[in-house]
Amino acid sequence: MKWNELLNNVPKVTPNYNFGASSNISNLDVNYDIKKNIITFTGNVRSAKSGHKYFLKVEFLHVGPTDGLEEDEIMQGYMPKPSLAENDIKVSCNCPSYLFRFDKANAANRAGLGKGLTNYHRRTNRAPNNPHDLPGMCYHIIEFVDYLHSQGFIY
Ligand SMILES: [Zn+2]
Repeated sequence: MKWNELLNNVPKVTPNYNFGASSNISNLDVNYDIKKNIITFTGNVRSAKSGHKYFLKVEFLHVGPTDGLEEDEIMQGYMPKPSLAENDIKVSCNCPSYLFRFDKANAANRAGLGKGLTNYHRRTNRAPNNPHDLPGMCYHIIEFVDYLHSQGFIY
């Protein structure tokens, strides 16, 4: 799935959220698997609201070794830069919002990197969190990807 397909589902499934500063991101790691053409970004995002630190993983698929690079960047051995518009994406976060709303739906849509857990249902009369199993993501993933974008890792 593409980034925008996931992003468009977010307001349908999760309430509004106050974004923190990008300084909430730490332990960024990048790995390019040249055989599989996959770029993987991992890192932590600290929730501005709760202070909890979560672990995130974002993969871009079908990334060729020179994708998104200028000639001089290729000469200097830069890692390719995936495109939010063009590359398929897979995501995961270990926060409750992601696990309970999206883990299962994303796995079913080949957009998830988690275990595909069944959606969480409280033993109350509240409506289910994601009744139509729309693939999407928590706001930590949006913050993380915004950060990758602002730092020039992706475009
Ligand atoms: Zn999250």
